[in-house]
Order: sequence, then structure tokens, then C-alpha cells
Amino acid sequence: MSEPVLSLTGLTKGYNHGKPNQVNVLNGIDLTISGGEMVALVAPSGAGKSTLLHIAGLLDRPDTGEVRIGGEAVGDLSDRRRTAIRRAEVGFVYQFHHLLPEFSALENIVLPQLANGRSARDAAARAKDLLARVGLAARADHRPAALSGGEQQRVAFCRALANEPRLLLADEPTGNLDPETSEVVFGALVELVRDSGMSALIATHNMELAARMDRTVRLGFGKVVA
Ligand code: ADP
Repeated sequence: MSEPVLSLTGLTKGYNHGKPNQVNVLNGIDLTISGGEMVALVAPSGAGKSTLLHIAGLLDRPDTGEVRIGGEAVGDLSDRRRTAIRRAEVGFVYQFHHLLPEFSALENIVLPQLANGRSARDAAARAKDLLARVGLAARADHRPAALSGGEQQRVAFCRALANEPRLLLADEPTGNLDPETSEVVFGALVELVRDSGMSALIATHNMELAARMDRTVRLGFGKVVA
């Protein structure tokens, strides 16, 4: 069997250690995501979803426990190496699009590819292909402010997938959109992920959206509960 794309073992994380306001957010998280698997992460607000996604995406470190991406244990690696792995292997989507306002939709998808070493020509070709796949070919030259909320978020999905990561991490990716737009935009995300064969861990409050993934993981008291 091939290595899981993401493997989290015994993760703990707290804040304000030793102080009266100490919070233990993660209390022993074990979670494995296989190649091509889409997993919904469902839990109430404040349960630790963002904390978990940040640790899985190497934006933060756990207090204890191990993160493996593509079978590689990343805990003891230098910050430089972790950044390189994150750039090449992990795509992020947040509730807000975080597109760069001074750049067009196309440029927002090109820039991370240049940072990862791709030629400008290849990066533009990939960006155009991705935009076409989410129905935004005609919007390539628009800046984010000239796009609707749903369009902005679809561009953010394209940007997250630009470097062909193995793993997509998404934190309430349609949480800012009205229910109808959310449904359509989420559909575009699922299609992109399925087409590219990547794995995904997607935090959502929406059980209908969660049901479109392969399985649902719930967090309770800082652990994965059935
Ligand atoms: P969720 O994404 O499920 O809403 P979070 O991971 O954002 O949950 O937060 C989990 C808990 O950790 C919350 O109680 C939050 O207040 C706390 N927390 C998150 N980041 C910090 C921080 N930097 N310092 C102190 N507490 C934090």
C-alpha cells in the first residue's frame, strides 16, 4: 500500500502554558488521509479545526506528536525545508480569499508557481487551464475587486492548486458565501480536487457539503471522535 498523503499521530497543542488562561486545544489527534481521499473536518467553532489545519500544513508546530507528509516526518526539519515542502505539497484555502488586490486573477495564480520555480510561460498556461476549469476563463484579467465573492473564491481554489500539491487544506472555504453560491462554488472545488487526484481535508459546518466527501472526521475534547 502506498504511504498516506497525510499522517498525524498523537498531536497535542495548547496555548498559554502554565498560565491561568491555559487552553489545551488538541489532546491527542490521530488522523491519516490516503491518496485521493477527501475528508470533511466537522466541529463547533473553537474546537480546534484551524489549529489542526495549521499544524497539518506546517504553518505551526504541535507541542507533541508527529506530522508526516508523503511519508516524511517533518517535525525535525529546518524551517527552510518545511517551507519548501509546504510550497510544493500543500495548498491552502481560507474562508476569505486572500487574493492580492493589485494583481489580476491570472497573476494571482501565476505568482506562487514562479516562487516554486516554474517558467512564466508554463505558469500562465496552467493558470489559464485552471481558470477555464472553474468557468472563469473570461475573467482572467480582472482584479479581485471586480469579481463576485464566489468568483474570488474560485480563483483562490485555482491558486491553491497551482503547484499541483498532493494535499489541499481548506478552512470553511465557502463560509462567507450565501447558501446557493456556496453550493455551486463547493461543487467546483470538489471537481477540481477529484480531477487532480489529490487528497483534501476540508473544515466545514455544512453537513450537506460534508456528505459530498469520502468521510467525515469530528473533533471533540481535542480528539478525533467517531
Ligand atoms: P476552530 O477553527 O475550530 O474555530 P481554533 O483552532 O481557531 O478553532 O481555536 C481553538 C481554540 O484555541 C479556541 O479556544 C481559541 O480561542 C484558542 N486559540 C487559538 N489560537 C490561539 C492563540 N494564538 N492563543 C491563545 N488561544 C488560541
